[in-house]
Amino acid sequence: MRANDATGIYFNRAADELDLSDNMRKLLLTPKREVQVQIPVELDSGEVATFIGYRVQHNDARGPMKGGLRYHPQVDLDEVRALASLMTWKTAVVNIPYGGAKGGVAIDPAQRSTRELERITRRFVDAIHDLFGPDTDIPAPDMGTTAEVMAWIMNQYGKFHGFSPACVTGKPVEYHGIAGREEATGRGVGSLTVKLLSRLGRRVEGTTVAIQGFGNVGSHAAKFLKAAECRILAVSDAFGGVHCGDGIDVLELLRHMHATGKVAGFKGADAITNDELLALDVDVLIPAALGGVLTPENAGRVRARMIVEAANAPIDPDADAIFDEAGLTVLPDILANAGGVTASWFEWVQNRQHYQWGINRVRQELDRILGEGFEQIWQLAQQRHVTLRTAAYMLGLGRVGRATVLGGIE
Ligand code: NAD
Repeated sequence: MRANDATGIYFNRAADELDLSDNMRKLLLTPKREVQVQIPVELDSGEVATFIGYRVQHNDARGPMKGGLRYHPQVDLDEVRALASLMTWKTAVVNIPYGGAKGGVAIDPAQRSTRELERITRRFVDAIHDLFGPDTDIPAPDMGTTAEVMAWIMNQYGKFHGFSPACVTGKPVEYHGIAGREEATGRGVGSLTVKLLSRLGRRVEGTTVAIQGFGNVGSHAAKFLKAAECRILAVSDAFGGVHCGDGIDVLELLRHMHATGKVAGFKGADAITNDELLALDVDVLIPAALGGVLTPENAGRVRARMIVEAANAPIDPDADAIFDEAGLTVLPDILANAGGVTASWFEWVQNRQHYQWGINRVRQELDRILGEGFEQIWQLAQQRHVTLRTAAYMLGLGRVGRATVLGGIE
């Protein structure tokens, strides 16, 4: 199923519960603006290559649009469109004053040198600098992009518009970023997993966890949950995974990862494939890599009791229905991974005030905002007898819909 069709299904389920009119559905589903640009770049070899960049600005009823920038070979307009709409509902679920957007370039960053990535990023900014900025649309890191990429974006944007650190978030701490942004999405995934376990009346200590993806989000979620005394039984990345029945030493695995670039080969754990990881008998499964990894084909093999969607859209709607039928609890992406955009908001606020909070304040505010979002969707799900996903969409759609009506469309 195409990514955008999948988010449309979740949207319409919540819209039915809210009894939204067809006109309002169309207004909320249609992106405000979609841009596709050519990025011609000279490669290190001297050859000229042309890449395609996308930015979809979905909705700004609640504030400037906000969303990551993805560098991945599978990036296309349909995926970016789906991810942009997820950002609109996500910022509304955690009630921060933003709308939703997303961007991407169809490249494999692992195949590009740092200099090539810098040239691609700067040319992309040249092409879209008039369309984003602190009060309109604020990019951030996503799969395949790093704090360094965000620094290039800020620097290139400044050549057109002057000093504007709030034009992009997720920047290096030494270059107008903030302490706690990098860990925020994974920390949020971890803290929300703990909240979910508590709400379900389960002990946190000893809870078994499998995590697909050991990048920014997966590794920080693993660190948080390990510190909360969960047992991380398996972890994987694009090259394969590792499994240890007694629990993986996450800090040691991180050291191995930094030294070798992959989790495979880690001593003290056995090799495991990504497919095997998804089917492990664990309490919590955390997909933290790509979208669409849980499908009707493999859903029946999943033995986890809970799935926490750290990645965006990791579950196909048909697989979601299978999990619902089987009584499995799914914490949806639009809350589960909202820690990143929430900390991005803190960064934007501090950039605009030329002031810096300490790490403790960032963590405290992050935990508070995510905790409130969790309690609101939990209560709504109980009251309306719907899944946590439908409750999250209802909360998000309701807020965006009300802002649209209050602001008016004249
Ligand atoms: P990242 O690039 O830092 O890490 C991605 C990880 O996924 C890597 O370990 C990579 O090896 C692995 N991976 C890639 N392809 C894979 C495959 N086919 N099978 C198994 N593993 C694979 O990216 P990230 O920032 O950690 O983002 C991960 C997910 O979280 C994405 O879906 C992203 O949209 C979502 N997300 C990220 C943030 C953020 O702040 N970084 C915020 C919200 C949501």
